[in-house]
Amino acid sequence: GGSNLSGDAYRRQHEITVTGDEVPLPFSSFEATGFPSEILREVYSAGFSAPTPIQAQSWPIALQGRDIVAIAKTGSGKTLGYLIPGFMHLKRCHKDPRMGPTVLVLSPTRELATQIQDEAIKFGKSSRISSTCLYGGAPKGPQLRDIERGVDIVVATPGRLNDILEMSRISLHQVSYLVLDEADRMLDMGFEPQIRKIVKEVPTRRQTLMYTATWPKEVRKIAADLLVNPIQVNIGNID
Ligand code: ADP
Ligand code: MG
Repeated sequence: GGSNLSGDAYRRQHEITVTGDEVPLPFSSFEATGFPSEILREVYSAGFSAPTPIQAQSWPIALQGRDIVAIAKTGSGKTLGYLIPGFMHLKRCHKDPRMGPTVLVLSPTRELATQIQDEAIKFGKSSRISSTCLYGGAPKGPQLRDIERGVDIVVATPGRLNDILEMSRISLHQVSYLVLDEADRMLDMGFEPQIRKIVKEVPTRRQTLMYTATWPKEVRKIAADLLVNPIQVNIGNID
């Protein structure tokens, strides 16, 4: 257990390095997060005993409304690292979902997008947060109906979301919390043009979070273009 470690000791123990201005200290326990009881209930009933390092360091940054670029390997708990602060963001702004989503998560594949939405459902249900998933290889009809009915969170692959945007069947003008998950993989798959078109439809006054397993120059470039004064968080020995 490390709940009584100082922030620096916690970072050393978990190989967390941070770069940026006024980086808040990690939350080494769930109690330290200040998340509302309905969210804490969900994480405890999932059997989790403590935040993962990426969560411990991402949460205080994201809750402050800061942009983040996080470099961490697969299986480190990144999904809840951005979803729970997204839930808090939704609670604060309580916008009408029929006017469009507030939280937008871009993910490289149908499989990953579906997994993210499953977590959004599981952990967001008690907070009455609605979500849908948009991906290719499936009929557009049901996806368009979900958008029309209105959802707080859209999880989408860039290709399908861009198709739906070109049909003028979704508005991104309410999006104020944008996540690019597995950014390196999305770029490897050739999604950069679609990502850039999508981001043009999102207001510049927003919070942007980017998660990636690697940090090559293409990812650095898109981070430099889309994020504002981000805090960079690295977990483990990734350069
Ligand atoms: P990543 O996106 O970094 O690959 P995921 O967000 O998919 O990782 O999380 C990997 C697994 O860890 C999932 O099954 C998730 O439910 C679980 N998990 C998330 N947070 C915690 C936690 N704090 N403690 C234990 N398991 C967790
Ligand atoms: Mg992931």
